[in-house]
Amino acid sequence: MRVWRSAAALRRALAPARRRGWSIGFVPTMGALHAGHASLMRRARKSCNLVVVSIFVNPTQFGPREDFSEYPRTLARDLALCRREKVDFVYVPRAGEVYRPGADTVVVQTRLPRHLCGPYRPGHFRGVMTVVAKLFNRVQPTAAFFGAKDYQQAAIIQRMARDLDFPVRIVVCPTVREKDGLALSSRNAYLTPEERRRALALVHALRLGRRLIALGEKRAVRIEAGMRRLIWSEAPGASIDYASVVDAGTLEPVRRARGKMLLALAVRIGKTRLIDNCVVSPSRKNLSS
Ligand code: AMP
Repeated sequence: MRVWRSAAALRRALAPARRRGWSIGFVPTMGALHAGHASLMRRARKSCNLVVVSIFVNPTQFGPREDFSEYPRTLARDLALCRREKVDFVYVPRAGEVYRPGADTVVVQTRLPRHLCGPYRPGHFRGVMTVVAKLFNRVQPTAAFFGAKDYQQAAIIQRMARDLDFPVRIVVCPTVREKDGLALSSRNAYLTPEERRRALALVHALRLGRRLIALGEKRAVRIEAGMRRLIWSEAPGASIDYASVVDAGTLEPVRRARGKMLLALAVRIGKTRLIDNCVVSPSRKNLSS
């Protein structure tokens, strides 16, 4: 495994693989790696000749009052995880290497970012799209791997790649969870033991939402109210940004349960903002999980 600190060195290292026509799998991350990230690397390893992981805490996707400076940075452990997952190249750009002084170009999208996290994190998806576009240009991957845990992000990247003609296949991989159901997240490290217990309210609320739909509840307001009540009872004091039933394709709110839907949550437990989601459709059996 090789670690590259500059885009030029990375490009040179990738050139022979490209000449041979090898497929290049790319997993962009912000580090503080866990089993969720590892699952993306494994998926890339399975389907591509060469696997590139990037580790970069991207300042432009954090709001002024968000956790950019506290975001966990665990590079030595991250590199060990990458090595275990048989990653070929890890790109860890030096500060200042990604955004050149005077950079003034961004990627925006108008529809998908209007929903769910968009209004609560102004500028977030613009920052994500801009950095991912730059990383796609630097790595020029055949396929890039994203987690369903950040469903809206994956949908926005998929749309961006299509709209801007990036010749990359976007692969969305299932959310990896702890045994008790909590979605793995680098931000779980912020939780106190008591908050960690309360954080289970998210996955319990999603299960309730699925069950209500399976039992025939059609009114989105009822499903949303059920999820909210459950969160308030299991995580008193939690602040809910949203608990929403939306169309899984457009992310527009739905009034009545139909077609493929996304149940999506963003909840602040103490100082930590957690998100989770699941895809559900009324025709399928939703009672099992
Ligand atoms: P991050 O480092 O948080 O920016 O995440 C990098 C990638 O890992 C994104 O595509 C995330 O969606 C994905 N990811 C984060 N947590 C999980 C998880 N629990 N399961 C699967 N993928 C995840």
